[in-house]
Amino acid sequence: MSLTKINASAATLSKNRTEGAINTLSGMCATCVDGCIGMCEIGKSAYRGHEVIYPQPFGIITAACEKIYPVDLSHFTILGGVVGAWGIETDSDRAIFSNVNLERTVCKNNPIKVKMPIIIPGLGSTAIAKNNWEGLAIGAALSGIPLTIGENVCGMDPDAEFVKGKVKHSPDLEWRVKLYKKWQRDGYGAIIVQANVEDTTLGVHEYAIS
Ligand code: SF4
Repeated sequence: MSLTKINASAATLSKNRTEGAINTLSGMCATCVDGCIGMCEIGKSAYRGHEVIYPQPFGIITAACEKIYPVDLSHFTILGGVVGAWGIETDSDRAIFSNVNLERTVCKNNPIKVKMPIIIPGLGSTAIAKNNWEGLAIGAALSGIPLTIGENVCGMDPDAEFVKGKVKHSPDLEWRVKLYKKWQRDGYGAIIVQANVEDTTLGVHEYAIS
């Protein structure tokens, strides 16, 4: 474990582009952007090579360090072990990426096959969910992982139709469900509809199932 403040330092005359938002593990900007001139140590090393090895300006300085002292328990991350996982036989012709199998079933009573034990949580009525639904739905369906439609989609759908307080038609919800199902392969994954109090009152689950 290194307590060195990494990737940007006056010692290497480097700095991050998003100075207020740094990943403390990699020292990189929260968003590393295409086209950055590479002011951080990673970027600068790529352009200027060995110049970033030594504190700068080399030859006319004495150097200290930037380590944070003292060390206390909050500096440690305790990672659990993986229990019950078995690898593949130690044959370099067999231990290849394409032989990795992460398939599982989830849910005890009505098992759902998934190609990987990953689920995409609720993306609901917000514009960002809607604008990116196509990629999410098709990608998740082809990847064989469940995708969740978040709350309030019917309630925010300007073309939704309601009869006696219950949703009878919601083009937005229908589009989201059908797009996933269209690209779903061999029964892997699932399209899930999350409901809040308003959705429950509007009968969104019943409509979604229908
Ligand atoms: S290369 Fe990426 S991480 Fe480095 S300064 Fe630029 S944006 Fe930040």
